[in-house]
Amino acid sequence: MGRAFVYVILGGGVAAGYAADEFVKRGVLRGQLCIISEEHVAPYERPALSKGYLLPEAPARLPSFHCCVGTSGERLTPEWYKEHGIELILGTRVQSADVKRKTLLTAKGETISYKYLIVATGSRAMKLEEFGLKGSDASNVCYLRDLADAERLVNVLQSCDGRNAIVIGGGYIGMECAAALVINKLNVTMVFPEVRLLSRLFTPKIARYYEDFYQSKGVKFIKGTAAASFDFSSDGQVTAVNLRDGSKVPADMVLVGVGARPNTSLFEGQLTMEKGGIKVDGKMQSNNSSVYAVGDVAALPVKFFGEIRRLEHVDAARKSARHAVAAIMEPRKTGQLDYLPFFYSRVFTLSWQFYGDNAGEAVHFGEFSGTTFGAYWVDNSRLVGSFLEGGSKEEFDAIAQVTRLKPFIKDLGELERQGLEFALSFSQKPAADTHGGCRALRIINKPLYAWRATAGLILAILLAAFAYWYRP
Ligand SMILES: Cc1cc2nc3c(=O)[nH]c(=O)nc-3n(C[C@H](O)[C@H](O)[C@H](O)COP(=O)(O)OP(=O)(O)OC[C@H]3O[C@@H](n4cnc5c(N)ncnc54)[C@H](O)[C@@H]3O)c2cc1C
Repeated sequence: MGRAFVYVILGGGVAAGYAADEFVKRGVLRGQLCIISEEHVAPYERPALSKGYLLPEAPARLPSFHCCVGTSGERLTPEWYKEHGIELILGTRVQSADVKRKTLLTAKGETISYKYLIVATGSRAMKLEEFGLKGSDASNVCYLRDLADAERLVNVLQSCDGRNAIVIGGGYIGMECAAALVINKLNVTMVFPEVRLLSRLFTPKIARYYEDFYQSKGVKFIKGTAAASFDFSSDGQVTAVNLRDGSKVPADMVLVGVGARPNTSLFEGQLTMEKGGIKVDGKMQSNNSSVYAVGDVAALPVKFFGEIRRLEHVDAARKSARHAVAAIMEPRKTGQLDYLPFFYSRVFTLSWQFYGDNAGEAVHFGEFSGTTFGAYWVDNSRLVGSFLEGGSKEEFDAIAQVTRLKPFIKDLGELERQGLEFALSFSQKPAADTHGGCRALRIINKPLYAWRATAGLILAILLAAFAYWYRP
């Protein structure tokens, strides 16, 4: 049993949805493209699962958050795929791949062959068992990676009698789920081994703001330790979490957010891997010219960092997917992806965005006692990263723009004093060196002036010579 397609997208998540949209925009023909996904639904905006999906009132449900609503694009419902002649092979796990033969074998025993393959298998949630803790398959322990997990989480939290929820992990899944559980009126305790929330990004000052906010909503923190084991009731439900520091926290439900791993196993030994992902070039092409990788599984050259990185964020999934399709369908017209790293989160009434890299020294700005504040990161006298909480669209756009420019920073104190104004001044006057900021712009401007002055002088000499020789 088998089918053949020109283009196959393996995985049915965010990147798959955006890739399909791009294929249609670039004129893919009916019957040429298929998407194979283990999930039972058409591609959707995964970030909705830890936000709108968990709201107690008017929660988001499919079809409202199918791709590409996250970027105000068209909502690609199952009917849309049908209309465009794209085969959606759902509820189907691919169990092996043969990149030499250009075939995939599904768990249902079907062989699907391709001319071009886009690998978009994303990540899976890391299980507590990977850290030596047993019992995370108990009926009141939840993870959150896909729609099935989200449905289960909603059922568990709605039937959680004692209302005590333990969130294991202080990263963005832990933070977003903890906020959602509070909104659902549960008593939430967060347990994580780091000294502060989202320690991979937040500075101590930024973390303090969010921790204070969470505490004002009733969230308790147990930091610097980790879950060691569970206590169970006679019916197999977790009743308490035992911590490495010897303490015990009673639990009616547990939410685990301890990280994710890219789903690359189908291609290990067949494609070059780097940084835990499938190594691709700036066109998202792997070392096998028929295979492209996008989204969480791709290890791509990020010009901004000057190195290969894997980016586990929705914006990178969307943009890398569109770029791969452009490179496949219009290889000559498509250059290297020039990506500005970006991610965001929304919790309670708060909303932040981060661009670039959090390397070097952090310079905070704004009102940490108010609603709008942020930080820049300056590394080797260049602004390389920007974080902003509570910004307007214009302000978020401004920090994105200034980060992309990597301006030269002479004086950290002056940057702190100007704060958000520094980014806004760049977005209003992109060609001006208004704040002693951007050496690169200054360098570009000088030769232009010099060229114009020289050209003017030559023209004047020519006119004078012409007038002299041809004078009446
Ligand atoms: C709950 C949650 C909230 C998030 N919130 C944010 C946020 O606020 N901001 C942000 O920047 N990022 C966020 N992210 C991260 C973002 O969603 C991911 O980076 C993005 O989904 C990656 O897209 P992808 O297409 O590479 O993978 P995914 O969207 O994970 O899709 C992978 C797909 O491949 C399928 N698949 C995997 N293996 C196989 C196989 N062998 N056979 C068939 N199908 C397979 C999976 O079932 C899935 O459908 C969030 C992630 C989660 C889980």
